[in-house]
Amino acid sequence: MAKSINLLTEDTSVSNEDKFVFSDLSDGRDKSIKAENLFGALGGATVDYVDDKASLLRMGNSRAAEIVGSRARKAEPVFTFIDDDGRVEAYDNLLPIFSQRNVPCSIALFGSRHFPDNTSANLSIAQIKELHDDYGWEVLCHGYTHTPALSLTPEEFRDELQLNRDTFKEIGIDLESHVYVGGQNDQSVRNITREIYRAAYGASGDENEYPLQTYRINRFELGAFEGTRKTLSEWEDIIDTAIEEKQWIIFMLHVGSNLHQPADDQMIADIIDYIQSVDADIVRCDEALDRVGNVIDYGDYEDDEYFQLGCNGQVRSNNIIEESLFRAGNNTFTPSNIPTDFPEGKITIQRCVSSDWPESNGMLLTYAVTGGIGDYVWQEYYARNSSRKYMRGSTSSGDDWQGWKEHFGRLEFSAELSFGTVAAHSTKDVNLSVGSYPALADSEARDVVIASPFWRDAENNQVLLASGIIHSAFAYGNQQIRIRVANVTDEPITMPDREWFIQILKRT
Ligand SMILES: [Zn+2]
Repeated sequence: MAKSINLLTEDTSVSNEDKFVFSDLSDGRDKSIKAENLFGALGGATVDYVDDKASLLRMGNSRAAEIVGSRARKAEPVFTFIDDDGRVEAYDNLLPIFSQRNVPCSIALFGSRHFPDNTSANLSIAQIKELHDDYGWEVLCHGYTHTPALSLTPEEFRDELQLNRDTFKEIGIDLESHVYVGGQNDQSVRNITREIYRAAYGASGDENEYPLQTYRINRFELGAFEGTRKTLSEWEDIIDTAIEEKQWIIFMLHVGSNLHQPADDQMIADIIDYIQSVDADIVRCDEALDRVGNVIDYGDYEDDEYFQLGCNGQVRSNNIIEESLFRAGNNTFTPSNIPTDFPEGKITIQRCVSSDWPESNGMLLTYAVTGGIGDYVWQEYYARNSSRKYMRGSTSSGDDWQGWKEHFGRLEFSAELSFGTVAAHSTKDVNLSVGSYPALADSEARDVVIASPFWRDAENNQVLLASGIIHSAFAYGNQQIRIRVANVTDEPITMPDREWFIQILKRT
């Protein structure tokens, strides 16, 4: 029997085997602890809790702390069976199937069906204890009166969850997770469930991928409510896929309901046999969560912000990109908006349709860090259906823009060129193919080409072109540039072969 104790005073009137219950934890959980360990904990000794699943983190006041970093996880396929509603057939029919194969089942129970012990159609409290204590079956919350959540007020729903937990706690069974009655849940229901339970299960007939949707985990109907029943080979396909894709498959059973048929029991046995034949694991819900549950699970899927980090290292969130990226509606900002009009500390992206922009259709990116020691604002404008890009920054006063500049990319390379002898008052050209570089087409004659000879002699002195030789370079033809030298003297000049350094400032 649990005793209460004031943790600030040492009560020596108890034996070491007495258990104490920590209550009023902010996460609503009660955890028991042996007296000897409690006093050890107070004295700073190693803590060894009675419930081997309870850790110091779990007993703390943060569900996040319980989850983050507390266990090694990896993506793997796991299989779980949950039987709903606590009919006696769970004991009479399921137990032999599961115990013979040495695998556990999870059962979702609502207290009003079993407390006080009532009809023989349902599991007795002794049977529930036996399944839990002797066979390692997990008990899940299924409300207290089996009323679907959407028929309850938020307060009534919260009370149902708490009352059922308290009721089973009285017989020594901790409920960790909830099974929605009739699968009913919405954002409010899930958020209330999150206050009290570790996870919750729906009835939506699907596999579970990672990161999990922890408060609406999917289950496949097996037997009752299955509609058109699947063949064993169809189930085997689902299992094979789950193993290949690393998914969590949960089978939802309703043994004893008038929709569950005797042949369904055989199917359950056959499915377990198949899962075992392919060497996959059948585990309870709590173990599955330990193995493939989310590492971080913040917020509901319909909340303004949510963030889930799965056992596979993948993130599902609506809150990472939005934090730094602001998606403005089309034409929200116009060219007359000054730099400080843009959201501080964000990249703003919008589509533009106006002849006031560098081109009349395009995408505008604005990087803005404003305030404090000064404004740092920059814009890039990408013309639609082209590779042209324009840029401008803010003026030093921060309240206006510089002019737009078209961005040019730069190519650099060197080549040894041979001009030989250039006649007096003549020019001579050398064409150079740059086919290995992005195409220099005729239409890109606006590309700027710079060519500089950089020859050095044996003493490493820089050697200039001969006096009287001048040079220029320009884009010429398809993927070619031309370097032209001119001899402006009255005598021919012979030029040694030499290396030229060439830059192309290319329209992007
Ligand atoms: Zn039910």
